Amino acid sequence: MSHGFVTASYIVAAVLFIMSLGGLSKQESAKAGNWYGVAGMAIALLATIFNPDVTGIGWIIVAMAIGAAIGIRLALKVEMTQMPELIAILHSFVGLAAVLVAFNTYMEHEPLFGAMLNIHNIEIFLGVFIGAVTFTGSIVAFGKLRGSISSQALQLPHRHKFNLLAVVLSALLLIWFVQAEGSTFPLLVMTLIALAFGWHLVASIGGADMPVVISMLNSYSGWAAAAAGFMLSNDLLIVTGALVGSSGAILSYIMCQAMNRSFISVIAGGFGSDVVASNSAEEEGEYTEVNVEDVADILKNSTSVVITPGYGMAVAQAQYPVAELVSKLQAAGIKVRFGIHPVAGRLPGHMNVLLAEAKVSYDIVLEMDEINEDFSDTDTVLVIGANDTVNPSAAEDPTSPIAGMPVLEVWKAQQVVVFKRSMGTGYAGVQNPLFFKDNSVMLFGDAKDSVEQILKAW
Ligand code: NDP
Repeated sequence: MSHGFVTASYIVAAVLFIMSLGGLSKQESAKAGNWYGVAGMAIALLATIFNPDVTGIGWIIVAMAIGAAIGIRLALKVEMTQMPELIAILHSFVGLAAVLVAFNTYMEHEPLFGAMLNIHNIEIFLGVFIGAVTFTGSIVAFGKLRGSISSQALQLPHRHKFNLLAVVLSALLLIWFVQAEGSTFPLLVMTLIALAFGWHLVASIGGADMPVVISMLNSYSGWAAAAAGFMLSNDLLIVTGALVGSSGAILSYIMCQAMNRSFISVIAGGFGSDVVASNSAEEEGEYTEVNVEDVADILKNSTSVVITPGYGMAVAQAQYPVAELVSKLQAAGIKVRFGIHPVAGRLPGHMNVLLAEAKVSYDIVLEMDEINEDFSDTDTVLVIGANDTVNPSAAEDPTSPIAGMPVLEVWKAQQVVVFKRSMGTGYAGVQNPLFFKDNSVMLFGDAKDSVEQILKAW
């Protein structure tokens, strides 16, 4: 394959990636968007492998076969609820790859002098820094999402000073590295600092801000790939990395706006969010328990119902019986809609994907801003496996770790039925005063079982 053909293939692949991002921005075109991405990646891979500068194709094919086998196995095995952890660990691979590429380029490059050598060294230094931060940050995010690390924010004393020190020291080490024409010592010290910095940055972010962390790490992994592209002089990797980096940054910003959080405060490891919740996980009063027959009666006596699903619906895989319940309610002339919080579940758009899977029609699935004003005119709200996203303390308690985060104001409805298994807290670890309100009742049990029982009792 000639160089010209490789360049042409890279341009086609880059255009396909842009079309893929465009397609993924709407539910209706998301499938096509996925296919554009697959086609772009296939073209990019073939053009890279058959680039006349590339040698050792045999090794590449063996590595790809091993990677593909692991990837296919994981893709077939992974549950929807485990997708965010999978994404987090994949980001860590991108970070690690950038670090390895940078060290490889550092050890093996053609002799360079003057400005070219300086540019080359800056590329290496930044590649290692961004890659190392992404690597450990993503591992912590993986642990938090998997539950093997506490989702609560790590609040070390002087943590902001530690972050600032890490950035200042790294900048000084960069100057040393460039002036010493690529001395190994500052590069190694910075690598250790960046690994610790990435770890601490994500560990300091509380559970409720995890959605922003995921999209932020997505953005970092894009910049890490772009840095690797500069080192390898691979234009497509630069373009693709920049696309991922900037779209991740835009998504992080949108998420921050949706959650009323300051973008800078979240990416600086919770800077400015020193609120300490008092006894946040303790129970706060009496609650009323009901059974499935009671809930069936409540529904039969309602004319309007809103369902607000959350992470528990995903865990229970309750979307199918929920869709069936919706059909039953509609057949009985009851108006049913869904209210979707922007961070419900464990990844952006999680609930929309589940409801689409169960063939719930898009036009009854409303965003939080579209439904919030209607709760006061709603007879019954079914809170199915949601907790933080319907927590009134976000709006009413300024000392709460989720204070200021917009929530679905379900408590304004006449009657609220909460489907969950216990009085346990949600991901942010904050108790929910909704459960103790006079117009709330609790239906304990697995969400799928509970909805199926209601269908039977109908
Ligand atoms: P939450 O995590 O706040 O609450 C989920 C609730 O579901 C729990 O209280 C749990 O209670 C219940 N539950 C779990 N399993 C079942 C089951 N089988 N049947 C019935 N109930 C069940 O979920 P929300 O969706 O309300 O909020 C999402 C949270 O996750 C937010 O804090 C958000 O910031 C965070 N987050 C979101 C991400 C995103 O991108 N969307 C990414 C990472 C984090 P019990 O154990 O008693 O059953």
